[in-house]
Amino acid sequence: MTAAGFVWDPRVVAHVYRDDHPLRPIRLVGVHDTLERLGAFARKDARVLAPRAATRAEIERIHDSDYVEAVSRASGDPDDDYGDWGLSAWGDTPPFEGMHEVSLLTTGGTLTAMEEVIAGRLRVAFNGSGGLHHAMRRYASGFCIYNDPAIVCGLLADRGMKVAYVDIDAHHGDGVQAAFYETDQVLTISLHQYGFVPELGHLFFPGTGTAEERGRGRGAGYSINVALPPYTDDTAYVRAFDGVVPPLLERYQPDVLVTQQGIDSHFEDPLTQLMVSTRAREHIVRQFATTTSPWVAMGGGGYSLDAVRRAWSMEFLIMLGADIPKELHDAEPPQWSGVRRAQVDAAVDAAITGALDAAWI
Ligand SMILES: [Zn+2]
Repeated sequence: MTAAGFVWDPRVVAHVYRDDHPLRPIRLVGVHDTLERLGAFARKDARVLAPRAATRAEIERIHDSDYVEAVSRASGDPDDDYGDWGLSAWGDTPPFEGMHEVSLLTTGGTLTAMEEVIAGRLRVAFNGSGGLHHAMRRYASGFCIYNDPAIVCGLLADRGMKVAYVDIDAHHGDGVQAAFYETDQVLTISLHQYGFVPELGHLFFPGTGTAEERGRGRGAGYSINVALPPYTDDTAYVRAFDGVVPPLLERYQPDVLVTQQGIDSHFEDPLTQLMVSTRAREHIVRQFATTTSPWVAMGGGGYSLDAVRRAWSMEFLIMLGADIPKELHDAEPPQWSGVRRAQVDAAVDAAITGALDAAWI
């Protein structure tokens, strides 16, 4: 079965974090409209899914009740002070009117996707508004309010399923890792940029995600981090992915695959220094598509609107088993050669070795 669902609701693309904020939910309109123009939704295996709102109990699978209370208050009165909860007007995650309600819908979209694939009605479902992987138990972080990937992984684990979570956003999936750091029931694998960025003068956000963070207790070896150097290009990125993800999924034998497909790793993205193109992404998403287990897919970061539009459109076409028109691909992906090639490859080889050595025995 190749049936694929696309979660869509104009209400989840209309909100604005702040006028100058890099995360623009409106970016999903470009994905939706491109897929519609290409006839994707008219294919017999395609389904457009309306999200439901997540329930309070579902949110509290991961978040503390008083944090949810604070977000609810901020939603109605965003001008008060919510600094203790990771929300600040000029910070990464500002309070804004209606934030609780729209976050229930973005989380609910991932829950809808999960329900459809677990029931066997769809092979895969994609919620572009989800993948908010930085939110922590008691605080918002990195543009993320409720951690829908962690909520879905937790609810699947509660059903007794073995969950594999693979995060290909440019940033470390720290909130999801933290939620399952001491359990072997959710394997988390994150590939991300790590380390000092000379032009920024500080560590790349969130500053975590080395191979040494490998889980604790029963979870030892079930938190896997592939810490990539800035300026990792397609060749190196694909080698890192192929060297770690398929072998570990093969060993783990998950009942369900959950993917966070942030596209801020793209070479045009203004917030990161990775150099991934649609070519590497095609390879990786095709690899996800070879799994036989149910597959819940989400968006995530992505701050070049054109890269978001082309990459996520392509990725949904792969989920459908449809052909990919040339217009969605990058014409000339950047590629290192010479000394720089050798430097990037050496750093990526070390990241692969570190990740494999960290895995459970
Ligand atoms: Zn990101």
